[in-house]
Amino acid sequence: DAFPAPGATAPGLTAPASMDAFWMPFTANRQFRRSPRLLAAAEGMYYRDVEGRPILDGTAGLWCCNAGHARPRIVQAIARQAATMDFAPHFQMGSPLPFELAGRLKELAPRPLDHVFFTNSGSESVDTALKIAIAWHRARGEGQRAKLIGREKAYHGVGFGGISVGGLPNNRKWFGPGLPGVDHMRHTLDIARNAFSRGLPPHGVELAEDLERLVQLHDPSTIAAVIVEPISGSAGVILPPPGYLQRLREICDNYGILLVFDEVITGFGRVGAPFAAQRFGVTPDMMTVAKGLTSGCVPMGAVFVSDRVHEAFMQGPEGAIDLFHGYTYSGHPLACAAALATLDTYAEEGLLTRALELEDYWADGLHALRGSSPHIIDIRNYGLIGAIELAPQDGAPGARGYQVLEQAFRKGLLVRTTGDTIALSPPLIVERRHIDDMFSMLGEVLATL
Ligand code: PLP
Repeated sequence: DAFPAPGATAPGLTAPASMDAFWMPFTANRQFRRSPRLLAAAEGMYYRDVEGRPILDGTAGLWCCNAGHARPRIVQAIARQAATMDFAPHFQMGSPLPFELAGRLKELAPRPLDHVFFTNSGSESVDTALKIAIAWHRARGEGQRAKLIGREKAYHGVGFGGISVGGLPNNRKWFGPGLPGVDHMRHTLDIARNAFSRGLPPHGVELAEDLERLVQLHDPSTIAAVIVEPISGSAGVILPPPGYLQRLREICDNYGILLVFDEVITGFGRVGAPFAAQRFGVTPDMMTVAKGLTSGCVPMGAVFVSDRVHEAFMQGPEGAIDLFHGYTYSGHPLACAAALATLDTYAEEGLLTRALELEDYWADGLHALRGSSPHIIDIRNYGLIGAIELAPQDGAPGARGYQVLEQAFRKGLLVRTTGDTIALSPPLIVERRHIDDMFSMLGEVLATL
């Protein structure tokens, strides 16, 4: 048992003396301080809170700890690397690990996504991909192609690029006009037609024609890229109708527009293949990832870039910098060490296809919750992703969702809520008995609503 022994004292194991200074992200800070939920340790499928209570991890942290927690191979790789070389600059200077890692990642990705640019987060990956798209057209003499198309309800992180192509009003409205030249397709969440369908929703493929309409509206020769999440997670799990992503690919091809898949949550086994692109059989021109890349152990993101896109940047003089973009920590040695050990763990334990094996069992348990509360208006599943949508309480949207989050935590289960949608995405090491426990606790909580 790698959990600290009862009564052990070390930084981070007990509640902080004061909670005034840390301004928590995406949090109702004053409410939180009055009723904190503090995690202190983690191993395998479980967290422990500062009281030492086990909390079953129903969300892989924040959709990221796909290999489970405190896996010894990953922990040791990080520790060894910290002692060997803590940091190395990668601007006109190199170190071996990012090259090795990029090679390994290339083997996992669909062809021709053969090149990898490293970032530190999903948000940075998105902004990087959008910049590469615009720069790519310019490098090919089509500098007028700078418009971007995203989708309503999309979450692409919190950079100015990401919130501009993103479609969540709260994430946009406080922060000014955002990038110019951005438009949005409609999202594909249609509870009226698709409620309680298992797997992909049967209706809505025609929504892909929104892209055709926007392309015509803006003039195809002005559009650089389209970005979508194959499955959106943060907005409450929105699935693509069969054929939808294929149709986006077709339209992009027809007009010379780049297609970017934001696979920050769908990457690294979440839907039963290394990437959703492979499960859906649609290959984008770029793919953004983060989270599961290091199983959440060290911050790291990446952008996969197709050969064709990469090649256009390699045409200038050999001594000229090919892309004026990068981060101090691009290819950070600790993150690379964590990612390499994570990929080894995924491979050895078959975790990148495990969601496929468990998908039916997962869907059965999830959909069986339907009767546990009259407030449930939809249940959605795919791979090891689940969502339960509650009808908002009159005058208090989000109140039911928060009640579930809070009560589930007190019972010993970590869930994620967005408004009144409860999302589940357990570590890929999850066993059937954990799935049973998860749905049993959740069912009890839902019954109290
Ligand atoms: N893109 C998608 C699809 C995401 O789900 C997220 C985070 O949930 C991000 C981007 C942003 O990632 P980060 O929080 O690492 O910046």
